[in-house]
Amino acid sequence: MDTDQFRDVGKEMIDYICNYLENIGERRVTPNIEPGYLKKQLPLEAPHDPEDWAQIMADVESKIMPGVTHWQHPRFHAYFPSGNSFPSILGDLLSAGIGCIGFSWAASPALTELETIVLDWLGKAIGLPDQFLAFKEGSRGGGVIQTSASECVLVSMLAARAQAIKRLKQQHPFVEEGLLLSKLMAYCSREAHSCVEKAAMICFVKLRILEPDEKSSLRGKTLLMAMEEDETMGLIPFFVSTTLGTTSCCAFDNLEEIGQVCRKFPCVWLHVDAAYAGGSFICPELKYLLKGIEYADSFNTNPNKWLLTNFDCSTYWVRDRIRLTSALVVDPLYLQHGYSDATIDYRHWGVPLSRRFRSLKIWFVLRTYGISGLQRYIRNHISLAHRFEEHVVRDRRFEICNEVKLGLVCFRLKGGDKLNEKLLSNINASGKLHMVPSNVNDKYVIRFCVVATDADEEDIDYAWEVIKEFAEELLEAQSA
Ligand code: PLP
Repeated sequence: MDTDQFRDVGKEMIDYICNYLENIGERRVTPNIEPGYLKKQLPLEAPHDPEDWAQIMADVESKIMPGVTHWQHPRFHAYFPSGNSFPSILGDLLSAGIGCIGFSWAASPALTELETIVLDWLGKAIGLPDQFLAFKEGSRGGGVIQTSASECVLVSMLAARAQAIKRLKQQHPFVEEGLLLSKLMAYCSREAHSCVEKAAMICFVKLRILEPDEKSSLRGKTLLMAMEEDETMGLIPFFVSTTLGTTSCCAFDNLEEIGQVCRKFPCVWLHVDAAYAGGSFICPELKYLLKGIEYADSFNTNPNKWLLTNFDCSTYWVRDRIRLTSALVVDPLYLQHGYSDATIDYRHWGVPLSRRFRSLKIWFVLRTYGISGLQRYIRNHISLAHRFEEHVVRDRRFEICNEVKLGLVCFRLKGGDKLNEKLLSNINASGKLHMVPSNVNDKYVIRFCVVATDADEEDIDYAWEVIKEFAEELLEAQSA
């Protein structure tokens, strides 16, 4: 493809995306296909000769789109939002066009510098303490973009592990590192995302999963009892992962209590995972949800969930960047440069070496919406979630199963798990709405998340009508 052709088909691609997003409501929200559907339609070998662009795009519509789940669809209420907006799409496009790789400052200075600046902007808007910001006088902290929240949790655990082993090695210089490793214990709530368990598997450390209270919130007392018990068994608490806005029901661990407990244990690294909820802290009235952040060593949120920024974009801040990088620095000659002491080399802040120019898209989003535009977007989602909650509350056949603080409502038909499983499976099979289940206080519940960028009251009322219609059908069939 030459430049002239790219200019033409590039414009057509923008048109295709605009048409897709403008008319997305006309498609089924989930695909109606069987596993392996695509293998039947595509050749088993890559083409030997060049193919025509028009034919490739025709295949996108006829073969690929039928297998797409439309996360931007107004009837998609599953998981959490998958951030999207035109400025963000343009940021990704420009990043791809520039095509640079920014593993060190020298490899592409603007990439590194914009990332640091934008992370400071966002950290300030969220309300993180000054120690997490790179450009605050006397601060040792700073922010970085990772690919996913899972990666943020993993690098936090890696840093915590390195810090703990270093400390233990000083106390017991003749004890094998393997033996010290076998004593380390990490902690999280049963409500924490499964990525904490995965991180513990990768780090080869023990993880104690603790029971939250009846509001699905991990409490300080529970953590303290577990840590003290483990210490008496000769184990060494070294890492605690808390969640602000859990995946199942958007519950909040009691960070303030947990932080105070962590302070009693010299080796412990406290991580805060706010993958979904963190974006909402840009609203002054929601900052109370961050209470206790002053105790944290690291914090992550995904603008690619709730700040109109496309995947991938998981923003991660640490209080002390040296404690993070000392777990991850490997420094071959071919990656060194003359400004290492005065600049940030993000290759030391995470697992991958190569990194894209991801800060462009957040920069575009922050500048085109402004903090006030993003606040309006978040507030709209929250008020729509409350509208949905009111529909549920008014109908005595249903019950609400979580405290609705942000954009997620967990609900169910009063009755058994089987009844609700059937309700959800009937709704999803219809293709009219898409939701996923979760477990809250040992009950099967249906999660309704406000997801679409421009969601409005009509979308919420429509969803409620569909849910009611399927519930009525099911309850009638049951009583017949
Ligand atoms: N943490 C929380 C609280 C989440 O809700 C999720 C996903 O929804 C994750 C972590 C994992 O996110 P990622 O897909 O960015 O790894």
